[in-house]
Amino acid sequence: MEGMMMHRPLLVSTILDYAMKAHRKAGITSARTEGDVHSYSYPEAGARIAQLAHALQGMGITLGDRVATLAWNGYRHFELYYGISGIGAVCHTINPRLSAEQLIYIVNHAEDRVLFLDTTFVPIIAAVKEHLPEDMTYVIMTDRAHMPDTPFPALCYEELLDGQPTEITWPEFDENTACGLCYTSGTTGNPKGALYSHRSTVLHAFTIAISLRHSFGEGRAILPVVPLFHVNAWGLPYAAPLVGASLVMPGQALDGPSLFRLMDQEEVYSAWGVPTVWMGLLAEIKAQGRKPANFEDVVIGGSAAPRSMIETFETMGVSVGHAWGMTEMSPVGTHGCLPQWMNDLPFDEQITAKSKQGRRVYGVDLKIVDEDGTVLPNDGEAIGELYVRGNAVVSGYFRNEEASAKALDAEGWFGTGDVASIDPDGFLVIQDRAKDLIKSGGEWISSIDLENAAMSLPGIATCAAIGVPHPRWDERPVLVAVAAGDDRPTLDEVREHIAPHFAKWQLPDDVIWVESLPMTATGKVSKLNLRKQLADYQHPELRETA
Ligand code: ADP
Repeated sequence: MEGMMMHRPLLVSTILDYAMKAHRKAGITSARTEGDVHSYSYPEAGARIAQLAHALQGMGITLGDRVATLAWNGYRHFELYYGISGIGAVCHTINPRLSAEQLIYIVNHAEDRVLFLDTTFVPIIAAVKEHLPEDMTYVIMTDRAHMPDTPFPALCYEELLDGQPTEITWPEFDENTACGLCYTSGTTGNPKGALYSHRSTVLHAFTIAISLRHSFGEGRAILPVVPLFHVNAWGLPYAAPLVGASLVMPGQALDGPSLFRLMDQEEVYSAWGVPTVWMGLLAEIKAQGRKPANFEDVVIGGSAAPRSMIETFETMGVSVGHAWGMTEMSPVGTHGCLPQWMNDLPFDEQITAKSKQGRRVYGVDLKIVDEDGTVLPNDGEAIGELYVRGNAVVSGYFRNEEASAKALDAEGWFGTGDVASIDPDGFLVIQDRAKDLIKSGGEWISSIDLENAAMSLPGIATCAAIGVPHPRWDERPVLVAVAAGDDRPTLDEVREHIAPHFAKWQLPDDVIWVESLPMTATGKVSKLNLRKQLADYQHPELRETA
């Protein structure tokens, strides 16, 4: 209508442009693959991003082309995020922990034209190169002095940038143009690509800056342990520059002592990652008898944050934001920061509230439905399959008609594959992934609940609950656990410890001790592989009768 607001496209380049001018003192500090720590401001990043964009254009990269990255969290990876998308190409982040077969599949499926890789990943590419597109250009993300020998022709990142103009006028195009691509790790079948648009990415950045506001703030340092190769490091590379926060990039050393050192040195205020990395950091905090200087906020997501972990952080004055989301949701869907009125609750009740997956962020609608698709009430009791809708939720999968056809329900909501309840305060509780629920005698047992309860036993470092076949009950729960020390609790002790929170028939029938649990490419326990490992395992009752 005449006389209305202007339409300015929501482009990723506008975030960089804004940070360079409005937050010129903030920037990025990175632990580099070269072994040192590198620091620069957003304006300095912007100059190099302009150089990269010119270099990409010189290579013939144009609107819609896919350019892949295989890299740790570092400033060059950040430059690629903005340089590639700034000229309208698509930044395809590849998870280096994928199997060779999956890697070959996604690079060919995406038809990547250029692949940027850290020196660390040369062997991965060398091993699969003959199966990748023949006309691919490889660029190693380092300077000439650190260029490794490669069994394939490769360019040097710093040489690519050298001599290019340090300024650029970012092109304007439709905000619905794709800017990023990330494949889900695909526990079954081939990985599926979530294609993010400029619009969805900018809106998601606004959303998390508003909803996870405890973490953000001008001048604060935020550390993404969550990789830039997995769902845009939960949006941090976009949201941090937007609010004038600095990013601290940990590179490849993600063990407790390395993280502690970096966080201490760089005065990291907020750190984001999956529960497994926090186990390492907490062990180091315990060993040193103190937390890293200035560390006050942690965002935990990707899989359920154990209650005991939340309690430990909160007790030492580190506020926990427990977040839930998916690759297909850019990824943040809900966050567990408490509403103001809950701050008056007793500590224990606050921990209970923070153990839930939290309230939805603006721009994400949630519904739970029963098997017939009937919407269930948000009364905290009803449990159903979780569906979502939103500005930053996929409407299908990249070049995958079959998977796209199954992604949405008749009303256009995306099926998450999670089973959940929602309480009257709007708190989501993820009971389980539908495929991980344990079915015993026609009733369901939440593996997440069992794991959470068992992990509060000091003798258990980590564990996974799975269903094993049982002739009478269909499945029965058993716990696969990693011991925290030499004193392993007995099955009876485990059952007794968790009994107050469960019906008797829900308690595990066995504890299987293992050295470690198999992990997925995204740092979660791989129940698929665990089930494979236990293929010959027999329920105790079957062993007795055999
Ligand atoms: P992949 O497992 O393939 O890497 P995602 O990273 O997108 O895929 O995983 C999304 C899934 O992870 C969700 O559907 C949910 O099952 C699980 N998840 C993520 N965050 C949480 C959380 N806070 N609590 C419980 N489950 C979670």
